Amino acid sequence: MKRSIAILSGDGIGPEVMDQTIRIIKKIEEKFGHQFHLQYGDVGGVAYDKFEKHLPEMTHQICEYSDAILFGSVGGPLTESHLKKWQDCEKNSILVLRKKFQFSTNMRPIKVFRELNAISPLKESIVGANGIDFIILRELLGDVYTGEHKTYIENNLRTATDLSLYNEKQIKILAHHSFKVAQKRKSKVTSVDKANALDTSKLWRTIMNEVSNQYPDVFLEHMLVDNCAYQFMINPSQFDVIVTANLFGDILSDAAAGLTGSLGLIPSASFNEQGFALYEPSGGSAPNIAGKNIANPIAQILSFVLLLKHSFELYEEAILIEKAIHQTLKNGFRTQDICFSDNNYVSSSKFTDIILSFI
Ligand code: NAD
Repeated sequence: MKRSIAILSGDGIGPEVMDQTIRIIKKIEEKFGHQFHLQYGDVGGVAYDKFEKHLPEMTHQICEYSDAILFGSVGGPLTESHLKKWQDCEKNSILVLRKKFQFSTNMRPIKVFRELNAISPLKESIVGANGIDFIILRELLGDVYTGEHKTYIENNLRTATDLSLYNEKQIKILAHHSFKVAQKRKSKVTSVDKANALDTSKLWRTIMNEVSNQYPDVFLEHMLVDNCAYQFMINPSQFDVIVTANLFGDILSDAAAGLTGSLGLIPSASFNEQGFALYEPSGGSAPNIAGKNIANPIAQILSFVLLLKHSFELYEEAILIEKAIHQTLKNGFRTQDICFSDNNYVSSSKFTDIILSFI
């Protein structure tokens, strides 16, 4: 297969974990006879240093002419947030890409690796019994983020409003996506809303029910967002596919990420209606560990695994990488973030060496 991938490494640990992922990409190319044309684009602070822009035109073009985007992370340390280089860095890069390509659905698989049950903040009795393995689908273009924002004085009081807005078309996209994903898993969709208080949620629930008629093989349940947060802590194994609006998804997906024990383990994907997608780790640029060769490359490598599955439909290759990561963990290798003892971890590049040896 011949395909092109836009590689946007970005800042902090972005280039480090991307370098490790590129080693995996090359190995897969070699083993299966594929040709992945990697097109490198600058993004974030590193792009600002060169072009005084967080997302230069050249990078736009590289993304446009690629079959998929593999993104690292952008942003700088809190102590440097006053510098122009870092101001609005995420907003000017990742949010612009989201809007430009109309990425309407974000997918975040939440999986606690069997070998890493012990690093989950939940008790072994909760994680261990049935494991934690679910997917959160979050709407990305609507809700309070894109509605009108206003700050004003009313009755002599500083006042602010943020408009939350959804139309049925936006909800239908997510609904169809969730049922299709569930069909390939355990055929269960949990739609999360706040229908006891919000009109946008009532509409969300109505549309989910309507669309579910087209997927009689998938079980649909509704759950209030507050209950969902609670269920994450007491019975996370019950979930298969969770689908929810932008704001709830933003909060729930980070809470769910916490269940796994490290942000370094979780990939994500953002799709538009045509199926074009951007793949990236769930965490940020982690300036606190950048430049030390200790970042966990799993989230970035699994982002490539998602790319193989969803953009290229190369399942055998994807599953081989997943198995190699399991083998690496099973053999006791750990990066610092998932290691119990202070000095019993390997570097990011050594960890990737071991994964490569199992591919
Ligand atoms: P962060 O996700 O970068 O880091 C939070 C914690 O998780 C840190 O302790 C970090 O060391 C750890 N961590 C994250 N990824 C890891 C990995 N692969 N291996 C090991 N540990 C890992 O969040 P933050 O510190 O709040 O933000 C740092 C910068 O990243 C900020 O500038 C922020 O704006 C930016 N950010 C960017 C994105 C993105 O590019 N999509 C997302 C979130 C935050």
